[in-house]
Amino acid sequence: PKSSTPQPALTPMMAQYFEIKAINPGYLLFYRMGDFYELFFEDAEIASAALGIVLTKRGKHLGEDIGMCGVPIHAAQDYLRKLINLGHRVALCEQVEDPAEAKKRGSKSVVKRDVVRLITPGTLTEDDHLDARSSNFLVALAMVHHGETDFALAWADVSTGETFCLDLTAELLQDELARIDPVELLLTEATRQALVERHLLPPSLVPVLSPIAPAFFDSEAAMPRLREAFPGDSFDPSALTRSSRAALGALVGYVHESQKGGAVALRPPASENAPEHLAIDQATRASLELHQTQRGQARGSLRHAIDLTVTAPGSRLLSARLAAPLCNAADINGRLDAVALLVDDTMLTGRLRSDLKAVPDLARALTRLALDRGGPRDLAAIGKAVSAASALSGHFRPLADIPPTLGTIAQTLAAAPLPLASELTLALDDEVPLLARDGGFVRKGYDATLDSERALASETREVVAALQARLIDETEVRSLKIRHNGVLGYFVEVPAAHGGRLLEEPHRQTFIHRQTLANAMRFTTAELAELEGRIARAHEAALELELKIFARLRAHVLEQTDSLRQLADALAELDVTAALAHLAATRNYARPEIDNSLAFAIAGGRHPVVEDMVQAEGHSFVANDADLSGSDAIGGGRLWLVTGPNMGGKSTFLRQNALIAILAQMGSFVPASSAHIGVVDRVFSRVGASDDIAHGRSTFMVEMVETAAILNRATRRSLVILDEIGRGTATFDGLSIAWAAVEALHETTGCRALFATHFHELTSLQKTLSRVYNVTMKVREWEGEVVFLHEVGSGAADRSYGIQVARLAGLPEPVLARARQVLSILEQRSAGSGSSGSVAAVLDDLPLFAHQPPPVTKTADAVHEALDAVRPDEMTPKQAIELIYELKKIR
Ligand code: ADP
Repeated sequence: PKSSTPQPALTPMMAQYFEIKAINPGYLLFYRMGDFYELFFEDAEIASAALGIVLTKRGKHLGEDIGMCGVPIHAAQDYLRKLINLGHRVALCEQVEDPAEAKKRGSKSVVKRDVVRLITPGTLTEDDHLDARSSNFLVALAMVHHGETDFALAWADVSTGETFCLDLTAELLQDELARIDPVELLLTEATRQALVERHLLPPSLVPVLSPIAPAFFDSEAAMPRLREAFPGDSFDPSALTRSSRAALGALVGYVHESQKGGAVALRPPASENAPEHLAIDQATRASLELHQTQRGQARGSLRHAIDLTVTAPGSRLLSARLAAPLCNAADINGRLDAVALLVDDTMLTGRLRSDLKAVPDLARALTRLALDRGGPRDLAAIGKAVSAASALSGHFRPLADIPPTLGTIAQTLAAAPLPLASELTLALDDEVPLLARDGGFVRKGYDATLDSERALASETREVVAALQARLIDETEVRSLKIRHNGVLGYFVEVPAAHGGRLLEEPHRQTFIHRQTLANAMRFTTAELAELEGRIARAHEAALELELKIFARLRAHVLEQTDSLRQLADALAELDVTAALAHLAATRNYARPEIDNSLAFAIAGGRHPVVEDMVQAEGHSFVANDADLSGSDAIGGGRLWLVTGPNMGGKSTFLRQNALIAILAQMGSFVPASSAHIGVVDRVFSRVGASDDIAHGRSTFMVEMVETAAILNRATRRSLVILDEIGRGTATFDGLSIAWAAVEALHETTGCRALFATHFHELTSLQKTLSRVYNVTMKVREWEGEVVFLHEVGSGAADRSYGIQVARLAGLPEPVLARARQVLSILEQRSAGSGSSGSVAAVLDDLPLFAHQPPPVTKTADAVHEALDAVRPDEMTPKQAIELIYELKKIR
């Protein structure tokens, strides 16, 4: 029994370790020991495996070896980044007193230690850990139990201080989360379970969930916390809904805790009002590949194609604008006016862009300083950004007529706090170290006392040389030297043969023996010890002075926090505006006309990403018009039914129109020769069926869920693009669903829509539905081959050219020949009877071996057999591709 075996007493250090570990559950504890952070027990096992570092042992606990691994302080940043990227959280435990103090308390006492910071993906601020061109949002999600909405979100990029909050219904939750793209999502365990039960938790969010205690979300406890975090009159937490308060309170509380009592440094939250943005749901975002491709890559996405910004904050802002385009015509036109001016004045744009290139990331530097985590480089960055801003504002001075959005930017830049910048430039060296405690960053000539302390420290060599010369004279030992090492400090060294002399009168008065080596003897003198003390004190005093100067400069910077943040915003905005102007000028984009009509008239539209790819392959991209314009008088917008062969360019055409709407409403010029767009409230896109295999939903199910979302949520102001609805099920089912969907969009919703389909039967709807219009992707047949013209023309496709496409894909010739036979019989039958007729009846007509019998080989037999077994309508794309592999193997 336990009570009878005496527990070995814990060492004081282990006792301290367990105490600290217990109050920081869920975190890997980085326990500071001298020049290392050490990890113990399970933490050590996890870290050694994750980081590929050696797991060692240190003593025993309860009879078991204690596993241990450590990382040196100087390399800790790299290891931390790796662990955080792998989804771990780290508690950084430092020695919070001088080890000498601990010794004074007794030989057994341990150095006081405390966790100074919790490091999680959402609370990072170091450039080393962050992607410069991405925002890093920490989100708190509160569930509402009694109130108008279902949820509240509060989110912040801790590295820049930007903060937002929003109340929203369950319906919008996933879309908003997709837009914000959190790196860490705080919620209670109960909320997590509710999300799972209500199917509101997309799998992509699972890795970023961070369950925290319900107490964080207490809306009452939030009040004092929020007042403290956002002092001043600009923000009143009592004006928030109770649920927003809960979410924001949790966010601030968590950030506060992660800083272990340090400052929070968040900006007063901008209240986000969802309807002000063009709504883009998660499926649409993914299918239009706005920020990444469906395979998760940046290259190939819209953002990648249009991001010509030259600063990291500019890139983050561009990305945010792309994630949330506007819906207010006046605001959109305001942005477009600014871009237009810079499109016309390419000289100015060129100058702005080349000056902007050198502007550092002001917002992140400022936040690090506010969190007391900043160093001389952050101060230098701020000085540089401020002077650059002021210089940039000069470029606008000659302009007579300047649109208000650009005018505001120019004014903010002109108001840059130049005295602060000159102070920083005067005070700081051109090259400065990362950390203040390394010293050596204050410019010579800035502070007289510092200069004299430094002079003393640097004059050491001369003073020592002079002393050495004098001692040689006195002792007449020519080979006497003053040297320095880490153990003895400064000392006098003479060859062993001369040592005896110094031990005798009169020299034994001056020289105190320290050490005898095989061939040398070492001494010190009172004068040398005094000199050594002075040198050390000078170093210390110099560093102390530098730290004081650093603190003073930091305080000056923080006094200007508000204007510096505005400056950071203005710089980012200018970068985005200039980048969009450069994009428009170099890629030949046109200014869209934006108003509140139901217009959607695009002339010569292009796909911004496919255009690049096609051109890179040496082809030219074929521009196409689209006109979905409608009006309330005729019951809404138009619906174009797009038919044409696979590979004809249908998807490209559909997507390009959705992308043009999004680009226009984010305030960008668009890839078209002209565009007139009445503001769109929501974009929906269902393009290209893909199996959600990982989550057990078939193509058809995914398609229906998404189509349902569109039919339920689209309004007359929406833009809907639908591709191949109903393809995932048997022909008649699919056709019926597609048919009903077109009718519903036309009759009930009245939105502007593009609908691509393989069901040619649908094109007869043009006769009955007034706003339906048929277009087709043109092809030309040439010597039995099909040439895709990628050109949209009126009318309906009469054939789908499936066999030609199959041939391009390399299906074996015998299979193709047989397919042609089957097709021609099918076509004859349907022409003759006026209906498609039963397939069984068709097969009766089909000659077993046609005019040109296919060679009867084992291969052909096997292929036939395999094909006979195929029911394309019941196949998923994955099964189809597997079949093609099987067929290839038969060869
Ligand atoms: P579909 O949806 O009809 O199967 P896609 O839109 O996927 O066809 O287009 C197939 C390919 O044709 C594209 O990858 C692109 O290379 C090319 N393409 C499409 N549209 C155009 C165009 N307007 N001009 C030039 N090439 C195009």
